[in-house]
Amino acid sequence: MKLGRREVVLGLAAVPLATCVPMGPDKDVLFIPAKKAATLAPGDPKRLVELVKLDPSIKLDMRYATTNNFTGRVLYSEARAFLTATAAQAVVRASAAAKADGFGLNIYDAYRPWRVTKQLWDATPAGPKKNYVANPKRGSKHNRGCAVDLTLYDLKTGVLVEMPTEFDDFSEKAHRDYAGASPLAVANRSRLQTYLESQGFIGLSNEWWHFDFTGWENYPVMDVPFNQVA
Ligand SMILES: [Zn+2]
Repeated sequence: MKLGRREVVLGLAAVPLATCVPMGPDKDVLFIPAKKAATLAPGDPKRLVELVKLDPSIKLDMRYATTNNFTGRVLYSEARAFLTATAAQAVVRASAAAKADGFGLNIYDAYRPWRVTKQLWDATPAGPKKNYVANPKRGSKHNRGCAVDLTLYDLKTGVLVEMPTEFDDFSEKAHRDYAGASPLAVANRSRLQTYLESQGFIGLSNEWWHFDFTGWENYPVMDVPFNQVA
């Protein structure tokens, strides 16, 4: 049946949004919706904590809070980086090891509210880029506060170190085993990997900047907006 515009408009108005748009991942995925943001007690390792509050040397370049990302759209209302407490403490230890070598951590992305993953999925047309976007039905490790995207900067100059590619490069040059980069870029990539993997993270094979925290399965997918992280 083909509906006229008037019927479509009336139809949408009559049906509550929640009945046609899924408001969370599949039922078997542990999920904390925005309205239950405050359900984790202080001290719970699943609670989100802000990285710069634990280590002010950590720099932020939160690309999804700007238009400088592969969507060209601003997806975060605030440029802030959170991880679950246990993963955040592991990043702080990685930062300490980097500091001893004269480097600091520069974060591109960390905890991502579930609704942003849904927006990214919906906005990405079918094709190769879709492989880089998590399916909201399962949620992503970023949604669990257990994944971090980052690079290194030189503590003396504040300048980012050379890496094989820019952030969110979807080519094989971004693969962790890509051997065609400059020797300096390869050394920096492996340095970053050592700092993170020594602290319980595992690097993703096709994104040199992305690391997953071991045990992410035990943490819920969250849809808590940045301004409601207590
Ligand atoms: Zn990532």
